[in-house]
Amino acid sequence: MTKVAENNSQTIAKNLATVREQLHDLAAESSYVNEVQLVAVSKRHPIEAVQAAAAAGQRDFGENYVQEGVAKINALAELSLTWHFIGPLQSNKTRDVAEHFDWVQSVEREKIARRLNDQRPAHKPPLNVLLQVNIDDDDNKSGLAPAQVMALAKFVDACERLQLRGLMTILKAGTEPTQQRESFARMRSLFEQLQQTFGASVDTLSMGMSGDMRQAVLEGANMVRIGTAIFGQRE
Ligand SMILES: *Cc1c(COP(=O)(O)O)cnc(C)c1O
Repeated sequence: MTKVAENNSQTIAKNLATVREQLHDLAAESSYVNEVQLVAVSKRHPIEAVQAAAAAGQRDFGENYVQEGVAKINALAELSLTWHFIGPLQSNKTRDVAEHFDWVQSVEREKIARRLNDQRPAHKPPLNVLLQVNIDDDDNKSGLAPAQVMALAKFVDACERLQLRGLMTILKAGTEPTQQRESFARMRSLFEQLQQTFGASVDTLSMGMSGDMRQAVLEGANMVRIGTAIFGQRE
């Protein structure tokens, strides 16, 4: 390993330990969760960064771009990592996602869900699905309006090759912590409705990134997606 690569791996391991400790403390402080699952968002970071995080015990990774994600999944197949697709998904890319990823957190249309269901290989377990909700009604963000969630959830629940696991959101950029907590709390109540309808297999509320992880966990996130705080700034 070169000196630079070695320094980078040490930084990633140290950052990961810090984030894990913060999540542990936040879970203890939160009235809603006992444990928070960490998805390390490795988009636009090299394969070596994923290897360093994996060597430090990280299992779940998130990618936004299909091609980049598939390249990493193939290159690191022997590590048996769990891969989450978290970016916008066009219908011409669903096959790559259905064949390679373990989770898709950004489902927001019936057409995409149907294609993922049709294209999920028979030898793999059902694809884990989160519905992406645009909780702040942000013009720049993809995702379902809260009122549309139940209908798409019913559709996904009826798909044999998909497993409905819960909800994901990305908040509008630049909102104040108090307002972030309100938005996350609305997500929690939507998530609770989903659990009441579909049962305990709906178990995942994915919200919180490097900048709003605290508010998210305090309001009930049991999965966070963290990039910058682990891998540093993206190019
Ligand atoms: C990039 C990204 C993240 C991670 O963001 P950071 O601010 O770097 O932690 C999380 N979720 C999604 C959907 C993303 O696109």
